[in-house]
Amino acid sequence: MHVISVDADECDACPSEAHVKAYLYARMPSGNTVSYCAHHGTEYLEQLTRQASAIIDLRHQVHA
Ligand SMILES: [Zn+2]
Repeated sequence: MHVISVDADECDACPSEAHVKAYLYARMPSGNTVSYCAHHGTEYLEQLTRQASAIIDLRHQVHA
């Protein structure tokens, strides 16, 4: 069980001024943690599953 501490909970891919909440977090082998909203998380998930050392997927918490 990996525990990821996140220092930001806004999507890294959306414009920062949009302040879109992140629902998918991934730790990269470099140690960096990236966070994405449900939209971008879904878009990048295939790439992340190949590259990330750990992924937390909270997209089930999205209430559209
Ligand atoms: Zn986004």
